[in-house]
Amino acid sequence: MLQIHQFPCLDDNYGFLVHDPETGATAAIDTPDADVYLAEAARKGWRITDIWNTHWHPDHAGGNAAIKAATGAVVSGPAEVARIGVAPDRVLQGGDEARLGGRVARVLDVGGHTLGHIAYVFDADHAAFVGDALFALGCGRMFEGDPVQFWASLSRLAALPDETVVYCAHEYTASNAKFALHVDGANPALVAYADEVARKRAAGQPTVPTTIGAERAANPFLRAPALKAGLGLADDAEAFATLRRMKDTFK
Ligand code: ZN
Ligand code: FE
Repeated sequence: MLQIHQFPCLDDNYGFLVHDPETGATAAIDTPDADVYLAEAARKGWRITDIWNTHWHPDHAGGNAAIKAATGAVVSGPAEVARIGVAPDRVLQGGDEARLGGRVARVLDVGGHTLGHIAYVFDADHAAFVGDALFALGCGRMFEGDPVQFWASLSRLAALPDETVVYCAHEYTASNAKFALHVDGANPALVAYADEVARKRAAGQPTVPTTIGAERAANPFLRAPALKAGLGLADDAEAFATLRRMKDTFK
């Protein structure tokens, strides 16, 4: 069974180390901060053998060079990671597989936040590392992609089994909940979810990970098909784009 260690990084990122106890292989999922990752690995007694990037942004790949220099880790990720210095040793795209010791992750194309954004899905372990594509009650800003692409990406994630545990890269949930309630406040699953978020944050607890089931029920972006009529729209991708635009300026 895969072991997953989650810890805070930078202002509001989460770091993840994924460890296969049978082989000792350990992957850093993204590299927001090399020092924190190396310290957390040492604390667990794990040696980082692999770096798996989700997209090129500095709070996801900025620590590649330092972690690679310190550990000799092999870097896998989308080609776009080369934009910030260390080109991946192994370029990945949707449809590929990534291996960590004896465990296998499917690589999903989840472009939209950036064009080459990928997610890593360990089907057998019910774990998905989604970077900035999907957040608890939210999704990444559409910096590079277009609505049709981003909607297809979110649909790919939404199609995973409900019990899939979703490791998102940021603690944005409290502010995401405000927007979600603004556009979907009559949804009882969302109201219950938002209450739970408020309780966890008041207790200083993370709201990540979440699950695909919880997000399908309450995340307004995944609920674009259910919300489109209220927006006066007939198309799912257009409804998604409208919600994304609304969120960009929501206060
Ligand atoms: Zn990003
Ligand atoms: Fe990010």
